[in-house]
Amino acid sequence: MWTRSDSIRSRSRSTMPSFYSLMIGVTFIFHSSGIPWTQEKLQHTAVSLTNEEISAVLNHTDVDQMWERDLKPLLVVRYPGSAGNQAVQEHIKTTLGSLGAGWEVTTDRFDSETPYGRLPFTNLIATLDPSAKRRLVLACHYDSKYYPPQWHGKEFLGATDSAVPCAMMLELARALDEELKAQKSSNSNLTLQLIFFDGEEALFQWTSTDSLYGSRHLAEKMEVTPHPEGATETNLLHGIDLFVLLDLIGAPAPLFGNKFQDTKPWFTRLQNIEKRLHAANQLVEHPNSVQYFWPGVPVGHVLDDHVPFHNRGVRVLHLIPASFPSVWHRFEDNEENLDRPTITNLSKILQIFVLEYLNAKPTSPTNPQNAP
Ligand SMILES: [Zn+2]
Repeated sequence: MWTRSDSIRSRSRSTMPSFYSLMIGVTFIFHSSGIPWTQEKLQHTAVSLTNEEISAVLNHTDVDQMWERDLKPLLVVRYPGSAGNQAVQEHIKTTLGSLGAGWEVTTDRFDSETPYGRLPFTNLIATLDPSAKRRLVLACHYDSKYYPPQWHGKEFLGATDSAVPCAMMLELARALDEELKAQKSSNSNLTLQLIFFDGEEALFQWTSTDSLYGSRHLAEKMEVTPHPEGATETNLLHGIDLFVLLDLIGAPAPLFGNKFQDTKPWFTRLQNIEKRLHAANQLVEHPNSVQYFWPGVPVGHVLDDHVPFHNRGVRVLHLIPASFPSVWHRFEDNEENLDRPTITNLSKILQIFVLEYLNAKPTSPTNPQNAP
């Protein structure tokens, strides 16, 4: 059953038309700079941290710690409605709730009809500063693909799909806690939002109704939720500067190609950060011949959690390898087959991307451990 549904998913690439131009260009509330706040994202510029600042920031991240603290708790069977799914939700909420930056974590719970009857789904949405109008969104799906019991007790743990991306997001929040706290207290109009989707996977076979349960529900809900509060013309989707979706990360030697022309400059920035970190010797097992990000290489669309948002005009970076991991939707997608150096490097690149996008700086520019 799973091979059949997999091949259907593979064939379904390149079939989604994009409607993102429809929603842009409407004038609503004007910011003091003279452009409507909904347009500020189009002119947004990021800071560039110095090598010293980069080293100070990355000193706080530790992939080995992430492995024990966040990845292992996620490596359980966690299809919608399962006990593991509930445990992972608790882990995400507890982790973010324990941080000093003060995340607001909300749940989006709903039931949906599935090929196995009505099931409960829960998206988790963590917002650093709910009063900020504009949000840089990082997103992953925390559910694992369901395999019925006929597989003789084998468990599908979805390490790359998508335990690692979710763990990377939790590690980012933990490692950048001080910086995010400071950025939040600067009363910026811009903040960070982390979305953990449930029900990305088809339960039986990928179709437009048996897939993307969580993202379809949340995109629809955000579209009808006024933002800022009390607004009549703008909703939560207008608040998304950029929707960065992480998926199928953790296998060795990934190559990311560019899917969307309108966000190409931000994709190019990822490539630029990879080069800067490489030059500063921040990346491990990353010789000159290795390059993850290829903004010049167009790749076909893949149906994933960004689609319900992209169809409603949200700008997207889809960080999914052009070739899926060889273990994709196989029981071998487990901890054993993960590539720690790749995860370390992508995690560092993502952390710098986020800080620079938020115009945040390290709170302590010098590394105390290296101080005389
Ligand atoms: Zn999957």
